[in-house]
Amino acid sequence: MAELFYDDDADLSIIQQRKVAVIGYGSQGHAHALNLRDSGVDVRVGLREGSGSAKKAEDEGLRVLTVADAVKEADVVVILAPDQVQRHVYRDEIAPNLKEGAALVFGHGFNIRFGYIKPEAGHDVLMVAPKGPGHLVRREYVDGRGVPVIVAVEQDASGSAWELALSYAKGIGGLRAGGIKTTFTEETETDLFGEQAVLCGGASQLVQYGFETLTEAGYQPEVAYFEVLHELKLIVDLMVEGGIAKQRWSVSDTAEYGDYVSGPRVIDPHVKENMKAVLADIQNGAFAERFIADQDAGAPEFTALRDKGEAHPIETTGRELRKMFSWIKPADSDYTEGSA
Ligand code: NAD
Ligand code: MG
Ligand code: MG
Ligand code: MG
Ligand code: MG
Repeated sequence: MAELFYDDDADLSIIQQRKVAVIGYGSQGHAHALNLRDSGVDVRVGLREGSGSAKKAEDEGLRVLTVADAVKEADVVVILAPDQVQRHVYRDEIAPNLKEGAALVFGHGFNIRFGYIKPEAGHDVLMVAPKGPGHLVRREYVDGRGVPVIVAVEQDASGSAWELALSYAKGIGGLRAGGIKTTFTEETETDLFGEQAVLCGGASQLVQYGFETLTEAGYQPEVAYFEVLHELKLIVDLMVEGGIAKQRWSVSDTAEYGDYVSGPRVIDPHVKENMKAVLADIQNGAFAERFIADQDAGAPEFTALRDKGEAHPIETTGRELRKMFSWIKPADSDYTEGSA
């Protein structure tokens, strides 16, 4: 059984006594910075000169500094820049300015697990990774709840890295929901696998194939959109509430029987073999290497794939349909349709 932590297991005063620099003010960065501030922590935000995020942070009353200046002041440096730029920021702006004994906090283990960042021995290296998007991390905190977190310590230089990690996790509201003890390796490999094989990659491909199959057979795209995309949320909500079993209980017997006989025809055992190959490429570093090499070249493959995805007919159909639905409100004010 995994080791679990809740608010009572953590001492908030530990993080309240540190100066914290949050590097990056995107999805996770804004949520960590604002939640910590509202938990009584001394927070500053470190951003590139001319960063578009600076105004948003200042509008919230946060102090915005250059990364170097924020790091110079800080006892705890939280690295929430995009994974692919973290190693540059670390080498050029964080490491040269890091106070002796300052702790480093990550929201995902990518750069530590694959060796792109190698902190010196004197620093605690922690991870507090919310298991949900940053905008939900903020919204839940404001509503008095929290998004579950997983917590890890890679390097315990101070001898009290766990106490600090749990205090930080409490500060962002994560221990209201609960924290699970993990390692950088387990978090990184399972996070990448989950998003590639099931949540993002697997689900997106499944929905696109479903839409293509129906529209190529002559059914209306609007109807196909409802059946294979829109209703997915309703099914997933039931799974989250009560597992696959609750979903099967809630749907009709016709749907449940169809699930049993057709699910394994669509997602056949070969899919599991494919998943194992995806996991192997995560574990052996091939995925990380491919991602970073493409990013370093200016992201030509990434950009081409994003453009191809946005051009899929399901996006056009969805855009038109959603305009007609006043009950679908965009939850994320930073996202504008068609300009991901
Ligand atoms: P993001 O792309 O939303 O935001 C990145 C921020 O970093 C932006 O404010 C950007 O201006 C800033 N930035 C970019 N380059 C910079 C530089 N050179 N110096 C300083 N700041 C710079 O990123 P994100 O999705 O919040 O991801 C941050 C970390 O959190 C990653 O490690 C990611 O894996 C992890 N994470 C993200 C989510 C999520 O919900 N998006 C969930 C769990 C973990
Ligand atoms: Mg994840
Ligand atoms: Mg991830
Ligand atoms: Mg239906
Ligand atoms: Mg039923």
